[in-house]
Amino acid sequence: MSRLAGRQFLNIPGPTNIPDRILQAMHRPALDFMTPEFWEIQVECRDNLKKVMKTDGEVMIYASSGHGSWEAAMTNICSPGDTVLMCETGRFSESWADMCKAFGLTVEVLANPWDRATDPNRVEERLRADTAGTIKAVAVVHNETSTGMTHDVAGIGAAIRAAGHPALLIVDTISSLASMDFRMDEWGVDVAVAGSQKGLMLPVGLGISAASEKALEATRTAKLPRKYYDWNEIKTGDHGRLRFAGTAPSHLFFAMREGLRLLLEEGLDNVFARHARLAEATRRAVRAWGRGNGPTLFGKDEAALSNSVTAVQMPAGFDANAFRGKVLSETNVALGGGLSRLNGKVFRIGHLGDLNEPMILGCLATVELQLKRQGIPHGAGGVDAAIEYLAGSLAAS
Ligand code: PLP
Repeated sequence: MSRLAGRQFLNIPGPTNIPDRILQAMHRPALDFMTPEFWEIQVECRDNLKKVMKTDGEVMIYASSGHGSWEAAMTNICSPGDTVLMCETGRFSESWADMCKAFGLTVEVLANPWDRATDPNRVEERLRADTAGTIKAVAVVHNETSTGMTHDVAGIGAAIRAAGHPALLIVDTISSLASMDFRMDEWGVDVAVAGSQKGLMLPVGLGISAASEKALEATRTAKLPRKYYDWNEIKTGDHGRLRFAGTAPSHLFFAMREGLRLLLEEGLDNVFARHARLAEATRRAVRAWGRGNGPTLFGKDEAALSNSVTAVQMPAGFDANAFRGKVLSETNVALGGGLSRLNGKVFRIGHLGDLNEPMILGCLATVELQLKRQGIPHGAGGVDAAIEYLAGSLAAS
């Protein structure tokens, strides 16, 4: 394949664009990670992560991808045979459930159509029926990256309290954190699971857990085997620093310090508003395409459509993978594919992280160009609809 000129537009839902300031922060020699200079960096990262996660709980960081933070959450609070109520959201609840089973947990899936948001009332009903208190934890993916649906974590937290049930609430914030509001303490979340490569705009490689007092208490009696991720070993150590079960990934911390500074400089509310604006522009473009028997929004609950990723359903008879393959090979825009049962049926437009209006418009214009070029039916005016909306919303900002 000949070289494609210009920058690739990275519109997959993670990893996301890494801002130059973050790249430059990593462009420095390694340092001794057992020195006060490094501890200060760690402490700043941890304290700023607390601001982003809106928690006074304990924040722990590992050298891992998001899968590591999933594993940390389950092994630190559960014992073999414990029951986890997994809210079905899509591919990521499915694979998180598989991981729980691999650790000998009993997984009860709260079945839910992938194109709809979880109804917190159903969580409450199930917990009320669990009079023996066998459910140890309720697990939910805040933003299901495979479907582009956001799930009501505040509502689920309230449902657990309303049921008067002792279950812990574990939330995967991997594709929501720093892109949409997440309020760990206010919403009653016991464990938040996060990763570095999406809203935090960092390279892949850091897993993050935040744990409430109740979760830390559960760790003391949880019997699942764990070592690398054992919170008792890695939570705040001497000098208020974090501990690692191994060499600290110092360059990723240089990146994280800068990334968190960027987020706080922009202001979290502005970051969320920007994501909401770019997501709405994307949805308006897709709705216009859909009017001509073209691609449509996969999600059916309008109010729960994600501000970090939009899943777009291809019209029947057209393969989403063939479509996005050409979008990439001919026009250098990377789109996400459909996962699991959505493979070939949807493509996903990631609009999270370090992204602005020209970048999303470039992506949407290229998708429209390729719909035309590949002879896929679609309504006209998708990009116009996005521009119309952005023109109005920018004026109001
Ligand atoms: N959970 C969600 C919601 C995700 O989007 C992903 C990855 O995209 C994961 C978990 C797994 O994270 P990782 O790929 O970093 O291990």
